Amino acid sequence: MSWPSSPEFLAPLSPWFDRVRRDLPWRAADLDAPHPDPYAVLVSELMLQQTQVTTVIPYFTRWLEEFPDPRALADAHQDAAHKAWEGLGYYRRARFLKAAAGSIAAEGWPGDLEGLSELPGLGPYTAAAVGAIAFQWPTPALDGNAFRVLARLLLIEGDPKPLAKGLRTWLLPALEAHGPSRMTQALMELGATICAPTPTCAVCPLSGRCAAQLTGRTSEIPPVAKRRKPKESSLWLLALEAEDNFLLHPPAAGGLLAGLWRWPTFEATTCIPQPNAHPNTTAWPGWTQVYTHRREAVSPLHIHLEFRFALAEGLAWVPRTELRGLPMGKRDQRLRDLLETLGQVPMEAPERAMLIRACAAPSA
Ligand code: SF4
Repeated sequence: MSWPSSPEFLAPLSPWFDRVRRDLPWRAADLDAPHPDPYAVLVSELMLQQTQVTTVIPYFTRWLEEFPDPRALADAHQDAAHKAWEGLGYYRRARFLKAAAGSIAAEGWPGDLEGLSELPGLGPYTAAAVGAIAFQWPTPALDGNAFRVLARLLLIEGDPKPLAKGLRTWLLPALEAHGPSRMTQALMELGATICAPTPTCAVCPLSGRCAAQLTGRTSEIPPVAKRRKPKESSLWLLALEAEDNFLLHPPAAGGLLAGLWRWPTFEATTCIPQPNAHPNTTAWPGWTQVYTHRREAVSPLHIHLEFRFALAEGLAWVPRTELRGLPMGKRDQRLRDLLETLGQVPMEAPERAMLIRACAAPSA
């Protein structure tokens, strides 16, 4: 590989970043000093994983108000952390952040990249980004945006990720020359705002030297990975209410949905009640819930029963007054919001029996 010297090659990024950088609540005013609040950098980096800046800003602000430092987060109840994360998705990140805060509160901040990498939830990218932005360590951080930018600048054929080690070695002198925080954030900013999947090279500070642009190959470098077709499913999302209580699945201890309360669901094909045919059932227009590898056609349904019944394991009756305070994923929040628009009408017993018989038992 005969790549140009990175300090000279990337030099235009620094003054460009000074001119255009966005004012983000986690960004320090002085990019050349260690960050005054490394915890704010850690929170922002975990929130920004898989999530847009504009979505993160209000969550970040509220989070810092509620948990202003690692000790406050470490001492908070796990439900409070999940509640503050509600709607941001990938809830594992909230648990990792709380666990990392516990470690920092107990033992202080790690003194090197290896120590940061051992904090829960910090992969190589996040550890390097926190190291550079919070502590001014020359630790090059490569995320999807950085790989795309570097692949184009250096005309890397094929997937650039296997070259991560060589790219970090290449970047290191640029971080040392121009400042780790400044260079890391400038590269991130370039990837987020200009060298996007469809780049706007005309306003890029590196356009005169970018190999992909000079050879007219920006649209083919890096090659776009083929996306797996999302799995499709259809389900009823059920709010079963009795005696001012709602039937819910309590949070699982582990897995993707750990920490979140969920409405019972069942496949739309296993039961087709006549929505709104009974005075105490309500069906609202459905929606498509999109996940990374899955698409769910969701049909929300409310059924009001006269009495609570004995529950199988994995279900709980939750008083209506507590519903709003429970951490839920986006799909389940949406049904909770719908319930607040509902007028209650009691159901006749024969209708209830008919409906319950018609439906399969709720499943996870
Ligand atoms: S010139 Fe175009 S392709 Fe090259 S780094 Fe700039 S925006 Fe990206």
